[in-house]
Amino acid sequence: MASEGSAQGDDGPLKHLHEDGPVRTADNTHNQSLHAEQTADKAEPDSMPSTGQAVPKEEDSVKADDQDASIQSPASTLAETLSLLSLSTPAAVEYKSSRLGQNGQQKEDDDGNHASSQTASQTRGTPDQSDAPRILVRKPAKPQEGDVSVGLVYDAIMEEHRGPPGHVERPQRTAVLVERLKETGLADRCCHVPARQATDEELQRAHTAEHVRHISGPRKDDDWLMGDNFYSELTPVAARYAAGCSVQAVQAVCRGDVDRAFAVVRPPGHHAECARAMGFCFYNNVAVAAMAARQEPGIERVLVLDWDVHHGNGIESILYDRPDIMYISLHRGNGFYPGTGEVYDAGKGPGEGFNVNIPWQRGGLSDADYIAAFDLVLEPIIGAYAPDLIIVSAGFDAVVGDPLGGMSLSPELFGHLTERMARLARGKLVLALEGGYNLRMTAECARHCMQVLLGGKPAVLDTPWKPAKDSELMLSLVAAIQAQHWPVLESISIPERFSKAWEFYLLGKQTAASLQVKSSPRTRSATKKR
Ligand SMILES: [Zn+2]
Repeated sequence: MASEGSAQGDDGPLKHLHEDGPVRTADNTHNQSLHAEQTADKAEPDSMPSTGQAVPKEEDSVKADDQDASIQSPASTLAETLSLLSLSTPAAVEYKSSRLGQNGQQKEDDDGNHASSQTASQTRGTPDQSDAPRILVRKPAKPQEGDVSVGLVYDAIMEEHRGPPGHVERPQRTAVLVERLKETGLADRCCHVPARQATDEELQRAHTAEHVRHISGPRKDDDWLMGDNFYSELTPVAARYAAGCSVQAVQAVCRGDVDRAFAVVRPPGHHAECARAMGFCFYNNVAVAAMAARQEPGIERVLVLDWDVHHGNGIESILYDRPDIMYISLHRGNGFYPGTGEVYDAGKGPGEGFNVNIPWQRGGLSDADYIAAFDLVLEPIIGAYAPDLIIVSAGFDAVVGDPLGGMSLSPELFGHLTERMARLARGKLVLALEGGYNLRMTAECARHCMQVLLGGKPAVLDTPWKPAKDSELMLSLVAAIQAQHWPVLESISIPERFSKAWEFYLLGKQTAASLQVKSSPRTRSATKKR
């Protein structure tokens, strides 16, 4: 069992974790729910949101199904990227064929072990963690005065994971995002952190060896494993890159090579469980990265914050009994895919109190609901937990206009949330892309995050000043459940107290700086409320 004990030293206080049974599995409703989501794809995934959010016009020509869009990576083109890595497309194909027989059968050695780690390392020059304690980052091409050192980790080879035409989880998601960072000059202000694949050792901290073998080369009759995922020839390579780039971002930050980092990766990861691929995810990129972070000196507590609109069932189940990696998720609950992430799920065993779910009961929520969650519930918990590193499962499918999410967050909000996280954990912050299926809006969210990562101020929000009443009720419920683990929440653990605390907070002197709304809440409260 891969996750047993391998992440901690033998003398660590947590070595007994995972001993009391298998990790939890997601609700069986995921297939049905996913199909419902996929049909949403037909509803113009890249249509402009109706709320008038500013979106750059020049991207209007990018079509959902335009598989040949001339999007260039930071390394210019796929060919150039591969060239930089001393690779070529045939080499990648050779890599794949070296691990599959002529008829697609998986190669195994005499012990039943797959040779993927060695093959990957040897073929691609992947530095083993122990061999390469420092990461050779390339300095920004066009830095600006006062910029924070930010690592950008990306490789266009992840766009070689291709699904059926029209599928929402498509290569253009990362291509358009990176192009947006380039055309706004943000990419050139970042350090280039070399991309790489995750090793077997890294993957098997979060996944079973069998799972890694299957993803590395699934047999034709393994439909059960793939479930709702699509699979193309270079999917194994792309999936290893997605996990490896997330690890690379974390290691670059933990080792001081950069202050912050953004891993622009796909396929996404947060639905992938210990022994199961699901929800477009193969390896749990962020769980793998969080486990890798725990190998770094001085990183005792890691916070994984998941603001993707879907619950990260995979991260939760992999980390459910660990106190050293806390998981916080804001997501749509009430039957929304994947059907997990109940407010009462707070961890088990030594991990009890280190799992926090905020399952919004409906769509359509706005920035104010998220601001309230962060101000009154999450930041007090995070402050008390005092993580040494924060990794954000940065899905952007809660933004207005996303074809799956059904929420109404502005792209600017993600810059605000990034700033809040950057103030914590001594600034050690890594963002790793998860979902986000409206190409332009996803790219726009990422732009706002990157501007803040580089040290810029978040853009002004234009949001209702008060969270919805049902959001207040949910947040007070979260506070009531988590207050037994985090006493700092006791003061807002009943709805009336929460409502008063929010108004007190808004009308206090923090308001303008915190929300940066266009008109002050005091003015709005005078005109709208009282
Ligand atoms: Zn999602």
